[in-house]
Amino acid sequence: MDSEKLDFYREKLMAQRKKVVKIIEGIDENWSQNIRDAVGNVSAYATHIADLGTDSNEREKETYMLERELKNLKNIDGALKRIHDKTYGICSYCGNDISDSRLNAIPHTEFCIDCKRNEERINHNHR
Ligand SMILES: [Zn+2]
Repeated sequence: MDSEKLDFYREKLMAQRKKVVKIIEGIDENWSQNIRDAVGNVSAYATHIADLGTDSNEREKETYMLERELKNLKNIDGALKRIHDKTYGICSYCGNDISDSRLNAIPHTEFCIDCKRNEERINHNHR
């Protein structure tokens, strides 16, 4: 892949990275606010117990979201590293070029569409 294209995808990935980091920071803030609220509520212990169900549900949702975004961040950083190593746009599995339309849709992808489909089929069969 020529350096002009690599730059294009790097920009794309950096923009995505910024978005993901913002979401992660937002979750962290909400989370610590939740914890502060819970600690501040010790005097109203009975009320807090009644609220606990919703609280832990909310935390579970945020944990799930945080995990998803951290995974996203890892994928983006992996793609940025591949741009740096000049291996970006090459399927990690079969070594073929990944199509531009696929990279445009999912800039952090590591696999060509064929390998991705195979993977999905394999996962599907295991279920
Ligand atoms: Zn492949």
